[in-house]
Amino acid sequence: ILNRCTLEFTSIPENVAFARVAVAAFASQLDCTLPELEEIKVAVSEAVGNAIIHGYRNRQDKTVRVNVTIYKEGLEIRVEDSGAGIADIDLAMQPAYSTDPERMGLGFVFMQSFSDRLQVDSSPGKGTTVTMFK
Ligand code: ATP
Ligand code: MG
Repeated sequence: ILNRCTLEFTSIPENVAFARVAVAAFASQLDCTLPELEEIKVAVSEAVGNAIIHGYRNRQDKTVRVNVTIYKEGLEIRVEDSGAGIADIDLAMQPAYSTDPERMGLGFVFMQSFSDRLQVDSSPGKGTTVTMFK
């Protein structure tokens, strides 16, 4: 491990933008290109947005945790909530699948396209951890 940081914040929608900027600032120690930084921002927004919207069902009194670790081999971003959880992870990750008919179901598609490896751990009633490795 070369460097790591943990962010813990309240589940209000404003903190999606906070997390996106904070993680990008931390990751900019790596010499990544601007398009790569943009991809990081999108992936973090999608994961944190999901934690708040789906995990916590938009409740604003919960906690989201984001861990960022810089390894020699690359960057790992982990987004954790202790909310509703996902019953069927494979189904949830299908492109265009959403449990909300108003949504596009593209969050995981963006996270997948950013990541070399995307891992989703979840249990209903306990919460969800999304780990992206680049
Ligand atoms: P979009 O991201 O395009 O607005 P979406 O959030 O529904 O739509 P995804 O981000 O791909 O699409 O997520 C797919 C589905 O996985 C969600 O509809 C939701 O049911 C489930 N899901 C994703 N993240 C979580 C989470 N942290 N907690 C509980 N359920 C989740
Ligand atoms: Mg989403």
